[in-house]
Amino acid sequence: MPWCTHCDRFLSPSTVRTDGTCPTCGKPADVESGRARRLRAIPWHIKLLIVVFGVYLLYRLGQGIDWLIGQL
Ligand SMILES: [Zn+2]
Repeated sequence: MPWCTHCDRFLSPSTVRTDGTCPTCGKPADVESGRARRLRAIPWHIKLLIVVFGVYLLYRLGQGIDWLIGQL
C-alpha cells in the first residue's frame, strides 16, 4: 500500500495520482508495500526476543524428545 511520509499515513492505491504523488500534499508517495515497511519497522530487540524464544523452544523440544525416548 502506498505511504506518504509527509502526511505520515497510508494512501489507498486509487487515490495516489498517476505520477505517484500524494493527492493531499503533492509530495511523491512511497509506493513500497506497507507489509514490507511494517516488517522493517520491527525493532531489533523484538527480533532478538523472537530469536531467543525460538532457541528456547528448540531447547524444550529437545528435552521433550529426551523424555519421550526415556519413556520407551
Ligand atoms: Zn501526503
